[in-house]
Amino acid sequence: MSQELYIDPKRCQGHARCWSIAPETFGIDEEGFAYVLPGREGAYDEESAQKAIKNCPERAIKVRDVEVGK
Ligand code: SF4
Repeated sequence: MSQELYIDPKRCQGHARCWSIAPETFGIDEEGFAYVLPGREGAYDEESAQKAIKNCPERAIKVRDVEVGK
């Protein structure tokens, strides 16, 4: 079992606060909503990602368990 960052699309309102805090981890799509940059799903324990999680007003940034090796 491993963990990864993800954005809950039902919650994200597109403030881009996550991107302004941690642009190395989050991107903003053409409609203004956030996504986790490819290859950065495992960055949940980095300080900037944790700060983004705490500062998302919609609580849209989550860490979920993923099964590896399947
Ligand atoms: S701060 Fe939260 S609501 Fe705003 S764009 Fe990022 S994930 Fe979406």
